[in-house]
Amino acid sequence: MYTERLSLKPNEYEKSIARASELLRNGGVVAVPTETVYGLAASAYCEDAVKKVFKAKGRPQDNPLIVHIADMDMLFEIAEDIPENALICAEKFWPGPFTMVLKRTDIIPSGVSAGLDTVAVRMPSDPVCRDIIRKSGIPLAAPSANLSGKPSPTEPSHVLCDLDGKIDAVVISGSCDVGVESTVVSFTGGTPSLLRPGGVTLEQLREILPDITVDSAVLSEPEKGAKVASPGMKYKHYAPKADTYLVEADGEKYAEFVNGRNNGVAICFTEDSDTVKVKKIVYGSRQNEATLAHSVFDALREADALGAETVYVHAPSKTGVGLAVYNRLIRAAAFRVIKL
Ligand code: AMP
Ligand code: MG
Repeated sequence: MYTERLSLKPNEYEKSIARASELLRNGGVVAVPTETVYGLAASAYCEDAVKKVFKAKGRPQDNPLIVHIADMDMLFEIAEDIPENALICAEKFWPGPFTMVLKRTDIIPSGVSAGLDTVAVRMPSDPVCRDIIRKSGIPLAAPSANLSGKPSPTEPSHVLCDLDGKIDAVVISGSCDVGVESTVVSFTGGTPSLLRPGGVTLEQLREILPDITVDSAVLSEPEKGAKVASPGMKYKHYAPKADTYLVEADGEKYAEFVNGRNNGVAICFTEDSDTVKVKKIVYGSRQNEATLAHSVFDALREADALGAETVYVHAPSKTGVGLAVYNRLIRAAAFRVIKL
């Protein structure tokens, strides 16, 4: 299959949005930019289109998709019995990197929700994504546009590296602002529960949902065979080909550790750049978690491009967006943490 490149240059913008929407309405799969990561979109109302998404990504069938909407009418079409606190969160965090798990209506095919009676919904803020949803006129089911298990894509080149020839089209926009996937909160079990940390932080959520709980899968490995609230959390994820380790240490101990291992590649902070003497990829400032989120997946992909065999990532703090970065890295490292 030839994968169309849809350019957003000013004179091609309208045509490309129209083409993406036409493909989506006709059951195609199109990679689209969002403010979190690139998504692989399909009509959330078309079971066959959704099947193509799972196939192109090699995604396990039991891992449900997030449905992307452009307005509140779409929310009420796909979800019901929405609790008051969820509506308050929608008001506060939408459009933005925030996903709510709610009771689904029958309009959502069971393939989208992997057979669950819930649906994950998000209203993205990226203007291109919003134009595509509006022009299509349908909610779009979209997981990240990478091969399952690989680092999520934050640039069109990442999408093409994984999916060229397997999908109908990719919309060529810039790099994604946030850089990690959305925050996922479940509202279906009484007390709201954080299933996945993301661009909206736990600190922000607590201001509106003081009793929110944090699912155990956020920072630790679910036990084999255990039933998990967020099916996606049980899979190895985001991983480069190299053996990856997460290193929790201050700057001095981290530098001493990686400098003593001459085969490894360091994924480190700007603050480490003078002291780390082995091959390194700087992913942002320790003081500014948003910069780390923005570049973490690109850094993991770059490690592969360098042919790294072993990667030692300097672990971020677990506060603010740092919690989301830590959550992705601990999975990329298959839960191997070195504490110094
Ligand atoms: P991705 O589409 O790759 O960003 O992953 C979506 C994440 O949302 C995965 O971790 C899923 O397990 C989670 N998710 C999607 N739908 C549901 C749902 N209905 N209930 C619980 N978690 C969900
Ligand atoms: Mg994903």
